Amino acid sequence: MADCIFCRLAADPAFRTVHRDDRVMAFDDIDPKAPVHVLVVPLEHVESVREMEDPGLLAALFTAAHAVASQRGVSESGYRLVFNVGPDAGQTVHHAHLHLLAGRHLTWPPG
Ligand code: 5GP
Ligand code: ZN
Repeated sequence: MADCIFCRLAADPAFRTVHRDDRVMAFDDIDPKAPVHVLVVPLEHVESVREMEDPGLLAALFTAAHAVASQRGVSESGYRLVFNVGPDAGQTVHHAHLHLLAGRHLTWPPG
């Protein structure tokens, strides 16, 4: 999708990712909310996880997130995986993305 920032990043061979496979890629959030803040996104454009109909794609996102958590050394200390869906959840980029947050104690409930 031409006007989608994450589609543009997915198509840029010079863009620095922390993980890339045939279905998803992961990269550091530009405005991190925790010491580790990585976004895992499908390479194909899907508006939000609500529109994601392929369970294989969902599995690929979670598998990549767990792999990145290990790579960043936070598998044991813990991490949070979050999809923001729609306005009340604060979704600002309309290309589905799974947030991986870690590296500090994360309060609950979220704000
Ligand atoms: P949302 O609020 O939609 O759940 O999350 C969007 C996330 O994308 C935000 O955490 C924001 O900082 C991040 N983001 C927005 N534009 C860019 C970008 O151009 N590059 C990177 N790396 N992250 C971005
Ligand atoms: Zn997109």
